[in-house]
Amino acid sequence: MTSQHEEVVATTTPDTVRNYVGGGWTTIDGETHPVVDPATVEDLAEITYTSADDVDAAVGTAHEAFEEWRRTPPVERSQYLFDLKGELEARADDIAEALSREHGKTVGEARGEVRRGIENVEVAAGIPNMLREGSGIVEDVASGMDESAVRQPLGVFAAVVPFNFPAMIPLWFLPYAVATGNTFILKPSERVPLSSQLIFEAVDAVDFPDGVVNLVNGGKETVTALLEHEDIEGISFVGSSSVARHVYETAATSGKRVQAQGGAKNYAVVTESAVLDRAVPNVLGSVYGNAGQRCLANDVVVGVGDVYDDLRERLVEGAEDLTVGVGLDEETDIGPVITPESRDRIDEMVDEAVAEGAELVLDERDFEHPEYPEGNFMGPVLLEGVTSEMAIAQEEIFGPVLCLASTDDLEGAIEMVNATDYGNASTIYTERGGEARQYRYEVDAGNIGVNVGVCAPMGFFHFGGRKASFFGDLHAQGEDAIDFYTEKTIEIERWFS
Ligand code: NAD
Repeated sequence: MTSQHEEVVATTTPDTVRNYVGGGWTTIDGETHPVVDPATVEDLAEITYTSADDVDAAVGTAHEAFEEWRRTPPVERSQYLFDLKGELEARADDIAEALSREHGKTVGEARGEVRRGIENVEVAAGIPNMLREGSGIVEDVASGMDESAVRQPLGVFAAVVPFNFPAMIPLWFLPYAVATGNTFILKPSERVPLSSQLIFEAVDAVDFPDGVVNLVNGGKETVTALLEHEDIEGISFVGSSSVARHVYETAATSGKRVQAQGGAKNYAVVTESAVLDRAVPNVLGSVYGNAGQRCLANDVVVGVGDVYDDLRERLVEGAEDLTVGVGLDEETDIGPVITPESRDRIDEMVDEAVAEGAELVLDERDFEHPEYPEGNFMGPVLLEGVTSEMAIAQEEIFGPVLCLASTDDLEGAIEMVNATDYGNASTIYTERGGEARQYRYEVDAGNIGVNVGVCAPMGFFHFGGRKASFFGDLHAQGEDAIDFYTEKTIEIERWFS
């Protein structure tokens, strides 16, 4: 393992994070909090949390903009999205750099993230056609009587998003909400608000009508104000399961639509027929990429039968070769984790697993960056002998830790996979169709990978998630997004003259 840190220039002049409300940038009064670079621990900017009064003003603006926006023909609304795509493309490298700096992820991962975000703008730009799904007319449901269904927008929607994909996740929601004729408010994670500033520079350049697309920054109080506001029709949430459950319950109590994506505990199962040359790099990317801070990371890997020894050897070798460093350095494989508290939490989870009987095969937790010794770095960890009874087999790690387990057969592996409270994603590495089918059929998770370690759905499919990984029924992206953001109104008509 080496450390790479050349040519990384940290921002030294903190900027002020701004809100974007009613078609313009606004600053708000209140206590400021630093936005900290997790690698250099320098302050990148300062952020003020939006108060309930300021949330009320933003909702008022979005509410006012709704009536005219819903009357804007879908073909015209889609033109705004084509323009937004262009403006985002023009800023893609800047957004990737900002998010690598604020989050710590490698710049390569950041570029991929921006691409996946823009993909949703592209999908939503097809809105005129998408609105036809679930609408239509049937003549003569009774004599001389016709019945039709049309999709209609509802009003103001808000999205509350997590720290781990600061550019992509806002774009799971924003394009679909406005394409369908609603107005929209984004609340980014207070830990990584900078890439949203650049996304909203793109929004500003597109010149949406005032109040259609808005940004409020803040933490828990800002979210509470959004959840309780009577003029918000629906909330999209992505974050940890405990907060997802709270958001789901609170928003539902105040009569809102809600889709709340929670945390995860994802397993990969490697069978004897797997092509290890291809599977092993894929497993390593899934677990250690984004420093493990990924809701699709397969942080427990189960080797079935005789594959275990070879698999273990290759994974250890691969993990040892990973480079820990600053995300903006092209050579880095593992950037810092988001906060010192996060690093301590991961550290404790590993200690607890060892106390419960797991064995530490690789332990680079005490990695210290030569230039940034205060940074939240943590090198790769690999544990073996992990069993379902251990906390580390049940709880989300969200750090660069791979847990190895073994079973005699596929049935035993599936039992381990299904023993968790979560159901976000799971992967099988196999070359046998029957095993893959059995896995898809029996594993209780919303996104299943076959030889794919990070099974992130394209924008034109919904993003799955079950059990404690999802609260609601309509998911993000694709057709589910159109259903979430529209009401299907029935009209039954007949004419007497
Ligand atoms: P988090 O739950 O701490 O925060 C998410 C958002 O909720 C932030 O905007 C935050 O300001 C707000 N928030 C935090 N506490 C709150 C409270 N008590 N009341 C109201 N709002 C609150 O999550 P995080 O640490 O930013 O993100 C990591 C989590 O997100 C992980 O559990 C990860 O698995 C999950 N995640 C899930 C998916 C998915 O698709 N299921 C995708 C990405 C991340």
